[in-house]
Amino acid sequence: MKIVFASGNEGKVKEVEFMLSGTGIELVSLNSYSAVPEIVEDGRTFLENALKKARIIAGFTGETVLADDSGLLVDILDGEPGIYSARYAGHRATDNENNARLLAKLKDIPQEKRSASFQCALVLYRKDGTFDSFEGKWQGQIIDEPRGSNGFGYDPIFWIPELKMTAAQLPAPIKNKLSHRGQAVAKFKESLALNGFQH
Ligand code: IMP
Repeated sequence: MKIVFASGNEGKVKEVEFMLSGTGIELVSLNSYSAVPEIVEDGRTFLENALKKARIIAGFTGETVLADDSGLLVDILDGEPGIYSARYAGHRATDNENNARLLAKLKDIPQEKRSASFQCALVLYRKDGTFDSFEGKWQGQIIDEPRGSNGFGYDPIFWIPELKMTAAQLPAPIKNKLSHRGQAVAKFKESLALNGFQH
């Protein structure tokens, strides 16, 4: 079964490929297509954005599509950067620039007030226009300097108190089991096992 993953973010693609290995799904990333339409992520929620990406990419490829929209929500910043996580420090900001902006904003905030969560909305969009959605949430804290080199995005500053490590210090299989995206993909796999691709 071929599914197009509506993302060119290599960090996400690698994770979702790993999570779906053994399911018989052939995951094709958007990086295999040229002239991909630009998608303006103007939804108010991760789910709205994931659905928008899924719909546009399904129209473009004519395939069944899986789309993820995700981000980091910092409690003391009222949920910032949230849906703006990828472009927190500007339109084409790098992960390092986004992390630096967040650390600067939290400079005077003590560790016990730096709770945060990663959230993910995953949409399976079928060729007939029907879809299902799956969500995941991963609780942690923001530390004051980056640690570790695995993962991507905000992983080096996302601290998991129970493990005393950042998400970027976790081996990939552990992150994939615990993470917001891992939880959403696990729900998708459960639904596949129960219902197949139909709803
Ligand atoms: P999206 O591609 O519009 O969904 O943007 C997601 C952004 O949220 C990424 O560019 C990262 O900055 C952040 N993000 C989402 N998931 C993760 C993760 O698992 N680790 C670190 N950062 C993440």
